Amino acid sequence: MTDHNKPLLCVHGHFYQPPREDPFTGEYRREPSAAPYANWNERITAECYAPNAEVGNFGAISFNLGGTLARWMDQYAHDTYQRIVLAAKDYRTRYGVGNGLAQSVHHTILPLARGRDKRCQIHWGIASFVYRFGYQPAGMWLPEMAVDYETLEAVARAGLEFVVLSNDQVIGDLSQGAGPYLVELSGDRSIAVFVRDRWLSDYLSFQMPSPKRAEEWIREVLSARPPGTLSLVATDGETFGHHHRQGVAVLQSLIASGDSNGNYGTVTLTQFLKQKPPTIRVEVRDNSAWSCSHTLGRWITGCPCTAGCGHWKAVLRRALDNLSRDVDEVYAEVLRRRDVAPWRLRDDYIRVLLGQVSAERFLGENGLGYLSEEARRRVLGLLEAQVFRQRMFASCAFFFDELERIESRYAIANALQALALIYYATGDDLSRSFRRDLSVAISPRTGRTGVAIMDELLSEAQFGDSPMGGDMALTRPNGRR
Ligand SMILES: [Zn+2]
Repeated sequence: MTDHNKPLLCVHGHFYQPPREDPFTGEYRREPSAAPYANWNERITAECYAPNAEVGNFGAISFNLGGTLARWMDQYAHDTYQRIVLAAKDYRTRYGVGNGLAQSVHHTILPLARGRDKRCQIHWGIASFVYRFGYQPAGMWLPEMAVDYETLEAVARAGLEFVVLSNDQVIGDLSQGAGPYLVELSGDRSIAVFVRDRWLSDYLSFQMPSPKRAEEWIREVLSARPPGTLSLVATDGETFGHHHRQGVAVLQSLIASGDSNGNYGTVTLTQFLKQKPPTIRVEVRDNSAWSCSHTLGRWITGCPCTAGCGHWKAVLRRALDNLSRDVDEVYAEVLRRRDVAPWRLRDDYIRVLLGQVSAERFLGENGLGYLSEEARRRVLGLLEAQVFRQRMFASCAFFFDELERIESRYAIANALQALALIYYATGDDLSRSFRRDLSVAISPRTGRTGVAIMDELLSEAQFGDSPMGGDMALTRPNGRR
């Protein structure tokens, strides 16, 4: 039981890697910059995920494991993956609550998504969490902590109890430290919000002390805080071991100091929520995030968070938004003709992606068991297109300063995969409009357009004949996502 007569500390690690696999083949490319490792996932595993798992840190902190990373780790670093899953399961057995949080699945900026996409991202994130960890999560990690009220409504409606935000995203009396605080939503609903301490989190992330000094530092900081209040350090998990070599030991020391010398206590978010439900009401700043203070400009229009001209961000987003609308129209029309609710069907499709049901059984359970072989392939192709069309929006595509970066190219590659799937399913060629939209996206560094990148991607992909003039085939990447 947590001792509420002491100041309390929770460390939350957001463990995440941007998608690195080739969307056409599902394979991971060699990344020379990660040498001596084959790619960055391997390198960061060696520096951070594996050592933290080995010393038991995943059983003492609060954490979330992003979908792209979890999928890769399951396949390529299975021992570490298993250790993390076991640590989370043991924690739950021991304390009756979990220390893991779900994450909306494709790391998209949720306030910029339509309601039905928000719901799908959240539902798929929860389903993936349950599949990996075996229990219902209580909280959700919002990518980049990007939030608006519609996102909070969707999280609450999905049955989750809390999210984590940064102190500058919340308006109200924050005298209770990390809270949790209560945010009122429509229809008598509400959601709890934990508020991270930006100063404390940034200090640890950017000026990390030595393991020896860390203990002293945290004791000094927390001794000035009232007993029973929670201080929350929430930061990228890679801080501990990858960004700072000493981070694994520092994390161990923060957790251990809390336990051993009695100056402060440690706790996890779900545990604390259970002991101290929120009472103070606060409001949330719509369209805010932890990594940009310009009304989400970092992922829409460009803003001072990244150097140079960020106009390409707006143009790329417009191209992807337009494409989504076209892809959705084709999909919804085919399903409505069959009297099936398209968005509910899409939500449910996560069971196929996770390998929990066969495509055949899935169609049967959704009233589509009668379809001919051809119609069956069409519906499944359209559902696959919905996967890639959502993956286009991974926040990483817009996060940096350059259209030519691998993350933005990845968004365009996913779009091409969605386009190809639509073409094969229905014969509709949506590529011309997309091409036109991309022709005005210009790289600040090279001056090349999004179309040049699109054509390069098409020529690099070497599978069969493309419906759009390059060498691209409709391949189903290695299934799991
Ligand atoms: Zn910004």
